[in-house]
Amino acid sequence: MFEQSIATLAQQLRDKEISSVELTRLFLDRIQALDPQLNSFITISDELALQQAKAADTAIANGSSSSLTGIPIAHKDLFCTQGVLTTCGSKMLNNFIPPYESTVTGRIQQAGAVMLGKTNMDEFAMGSSNENSFYGAVKNPWNLNKVPGGSSGGSAAAVAAGLAVAATGTDTGGSIRQPASFCGITGLKPTYGRVSRFGMIAYASSLDQGGPMAKSAEDCAHLMQAMAGFDDKDSTSSETPKEDYLANLNAPLAGLKIGLPKEYFGDGLDTKVADTIMAAVKEFEKLGATVKEVSLPNLQLSIPSYYVIAPSEASSNLSRFDGVRFGHRCDDPKDLLDMYTRSRAEGFGTEVQKRIMVGTYALSEGYYDAYYLKAQKIRRLIKEDFVNALNEVDVIMGPVAPTTAFDLGSKTNDPVAMYLEDIYTLSVNLAGIPAMSVPAGFVDNMPVGLQIMGNYFAEAKLLNIAHQYQQNTDWHLQTPTMAKGA
Ligand code: GLN
Repeated sequence: MFEQSIATLAQQLRDKEISSVELTRLFLDRIQALDPQLNSFITISDELALQQAKAADTAIANGSSSSLTGIPIAHKDLFCTQGVLTTCGSKMLNNFIPPYESTVTGRIQQAGAVMLGKTNMDEFAMGSSNENSFYGAVKNPWNLNKVPGGSSGGSAAAVAAGLAVAATGTDTGGSIRQPASFCGITGLKPTYGRVSRFGMIAYASSLDQGGPMAKSAEDCAHLMQAMAGFDDKDSTSSETPKEDYLANLNAPLAGLKIGLPKEYFGDGLDTKVADTIMAAVKEFEKLGATVKEVSLPNLQLSIPSYYVIAPSEASSNLSRFDGVRFGHRCDDPKDLLDMYTRSRAEGFGTEVQKRIMVGTYALSEGYYDAYYLKAQKIRRLIKEDFVNALNEVDVIMGPVAPTTAFDLGSKTNDPVAMYLEDIYTLSVNLAGIPAMSVPAGFVDNMPVGLQIMGNYFAEAKLLNIAHQYQQNTDWHLQTPTMAKGA
């Protein structure tokens, strides 16, 4: 039951083998049983879930259902959900009940899905290990001593352990792909502008993008059918018509041209991870693809440019959390300034404070040209690298991260080591292209994700490629021991 695909569950619901209320109860019970070990949920919205499930059963009985109707899923706690606590992993928002619904969650709800709850995450999506959450670290279901990745670590752990059929995540510099890789699930970061950011609490607005996290590419396609598309509430939303993400999943891959960027296979990449990725590439050759080397020469510059641009945008976005308009307010302020400073000092964790300071510095007069403007120029070069490479090949493949999931606590005091984890994911956001993480094997019993990067608005193609791989491999069907038989 907890390992079934969306299509299978939707069929069972239509055939009345199970009702959505029964299915939802099973998942809620499982969350109660297993989540104390994982801490993947911040809020469990059980009453609302059962109401939605009841409504879904009625819709199915009336024949007005979609493939998501009655399917229990979870949302990253960064999407505003009307009437349901939305914390963004922060103490700052531990009393925030949004009066409105984000476009992503609203569309998924309209498609009839049931929301089980809101998943844990690094505070304001800043992090690569989910250890920066005010609500405590999330554990990796494959090994409870390891991190699930971040910042969408709660969504990844919940899906991997079968606590939700699928989940939403957001990716500013890797936060869908890296936790998907670490937890052995499938994740898609769409093209910037493909999925509406309305009601997504902003981290770095020019990089943030929501997307699906699920067991398979096919399940991600079902979520994309509902999530993607133009939204007039988001000024950066693209008017490019959305594709049918399910229609071409079965297209053959013969003739597909794959590029392997040499910079993705250099120093710093764990050799066993490299071997796993190359084995996956071989599988694509068997399916008729050809492989050639490409170059993304400015890869090394993605970390310094991202870690200027993202904190700069964050310092501006997070200024709204001042204890007046939103968020935590300190007790007994002496005066207005004391209220602002103490509310922010109490409400934000250390990583968030550090980034606000870095960003404010980079944007200040006299430094703007040296840091922010320079970083934007590098961003253009990185984008051109991808455009050039994607003129030669259809897709680019490589690792998602240099290692598998690392031990909890092992990088918390070493920000450079933590930021290096993002080396293969950040440049995709800087360029704005879509990319996926697809389970491709294991190293020392921990999952490894293959990254597939494509051209602007090539989401359907990426899903097709990943689906074909998953039709020929079973890495995505593996289940962590803690989730078996429970
Ligand atoms: N790890 C990166 C950061 O800390 C990316 C996070 C994300 O994609 N939200 O900023």
